[in-house]
Amino acid sequence: VTMTSSTPTMPAPATANTIEVLSDRVAVGWSDGSSDGFHHIWLRDNCGCAECRHVFVGERLSDPASIALDIAPSSVVGGDSVQIVWPGGHRSTFSSNWLRMHAYGPSASARRTSVFHYWTAAEVQTPPQMHFDDVMASDESLLEWLRLLRRFGFTIVKGVPTEPGTVTQLAQRIGNLRNSNFGLIWEVESMPKPESLAYTSVKLTAHTDLVSRESQPGLQFLHCLVNEASGGESILVDGFSVAEELKRQGPEHHATLSRVNASFRYQNDFTDVQASFPVVRLDHNNEYYEVRYSNALLAPLQCDPHDVGPFYAVYHYFSQILRDPKWEYSFRLEAGDCEVFDNRRVLHGRQEFDPQTGARHLQGCYVDTDDFLSRLRVLERTQDFRIR
Ligand SMILES: [Zn+2]
Repeated sequence: VTMTSSTPTMPAPATANTIEVLSDRVAVGWSDGSSDGFHHIWLRDNCGCAECRHVFVGERLSDPASIALDIAPSSVVGGDSVQIVWPGGHRSTFSSNWLRMHAYGPSASARRTSVFHYWTAAEVQTPPQMHFDDVMASDESLLEWLRLLRRFGFTIVKGVPTEPGTVTQLAQRIGNLRNSNFGLIWEVESMPKPESLAYTSVKLTAHTDLVSRESQPGLQFLHCLVNEASGGESILVDGFSVAEELKRQGPEHHATLSRVNASFRYQNDFTDVQASFPVVRLDHNNEYYEVRYSNALLAPLQCDPHDVGPFYAVYHYFSQILRDPKWEYSFRLEAGDCEVFDNRRVLHGRQEFDPQTGARHLQGCYVDTDDFLSRLRVLERTQDFRIR
């Protein structure tokens, strides 16, 4: 699950203006000018009548294997819903919303990707931001916040009380906390015996967290309790923007970066976690799935010998673009600010700071992408979210 792959979210409503029954599918022309095709067998298989789907729990009762592969409707009528009569008299009714939400052609792909804005640093000088009191108090503000997070891959939440632990209240407004060897909530401050570079005062180049895990956490929350040290500016970079830039400059490099597995490893006295995935992963629609990038946790490359040279060449290239000020949004987190970002899209880092000049203390936690998207879908859904 990722924020950018084919995850049904609520499209703008439209009515089915034109219906054309083709040999293998029904073509629907919507009132907004777009059109989608739905295969006959797909429609019959997704029938939502009381015989095909349990009325209370909403789960399927029908068996796809019992449907004739060459099934075709006897009649189809459009409007606010699409009504189909099948040979033998079985009837299916699909709301237009439901059909648009589950469409699978090029129009659907365009509707899906139109909710994302891949940004440059200049475009977010006024960052998308919300106030803690609003997102905690109202579901409308919560929905607005989640849509901003989906669109830009990050937001700044202002006015978060600097009481330690408050970051978990904000995170749990969305979903369950994601655990790891660092615990449910972790402290980012300079420590005498650090377990991670994060717990020192050195510069952290932009990276994603927990790259050595099979699944990187989705949302990351970094809540600033105190920031009195000089230096330590925060950095955010839209990894998908940078990947798009790489694709424009060198499509063959982009292909290498999304094909060859890099290896990642994190070890301490009690933990040894490893994973191998491409630095830029695409999904089955060739849309961005995630970025996985952390110099600190790169492990020895274990790829086809022919790929070693090309991998390092593109890694150089990608790293150069990442550090270009055109893509690197730099800002100072103040006490009471919480940066919240999609850890699988937006890379984060910080400049070196001087712990002698004052305290710097952040608290962080994670929420998985499925919990984020679940919350977003529940807030967006209407009465016909299942099928009727
Ligand atoms: Zn049915």
